[in-house]
Amino acid sequence: MKRFFTSLLDLIYKQKCYCCSSSEENSRLCTNCYNSLTMCELQPSKFVCGVNVYCAGLYNKNLQKMIRGLKYHKQKEMAFYIAKFMYEYWQNLGISSKFTIIPVPLHFKRLKKRKYNQVELIADEFSKLSGYEINTKLIKRVKETQPQYKLSRIERLDNLKDAFEVNKEEYRGGSVLILDDISTTGSTFEVMVNELKYNGINNIICFAAATPF
Ligand SMILES: [Zn+2]
Repeated sequence: MKRFFTSLLDLIYKQKCYCCSSSEENSRLCTNCYNSLTMCELQPSKFVCGVNVYCAGLYNKNLQKMIRGLKYHKQKEMAFYIAKFMYEYWQNLGISSKFTIIPVPLHFKRLKKRKYNQVELIADEFSKLSGYEINTKLIKRVKETQPQYKLSRIERLDNLKDAFEVNKEEYRGGSVLILDDISTTGSTFEVMVNELKYNGINNIICFAAATPF
């Protein structure tokens, strides 16, 4: 009887893996699914305005499901696993200097609609793992932009023109690590880097959780 109740309680309370639904490990992402994520090569996947853009993994299968889950389906626990994956990649790069993390900001209207900035949740977890501090005040999104996925690179840059504003008083010195969830053409990073450089902030690295290619 006791065993029956234990398994019944397990059924109700045990956490299921978001990707494969297995409850064996009682976690939101099982070891198998985590290990199936495809890590990118340990080199910049592109350069924007002379700044390295690193991407931790390929935007497919489970990583795609995790990022979409976090962004559109309120799967906030995925932020930890995405950050863990990014931090593993980051450690493999062996960059030793300290950084201030800048999560790519959302426009306040978008933030109001979604209730949270998914990149900030990833940045929080990345900060706990790395010990880097987060600065969400240095750069603000001041223009409401169109979703980017259907636009070409040129259209994206046009869409993002004047989208960000740097508040230089909030700069505390040192190197800056701009964090995003997905980087496709790199145009969001490019526009942010330009704005930071225009304000005399030059030690920058861009880092996305995933890239589609
Ligand atoms: Zn799984």
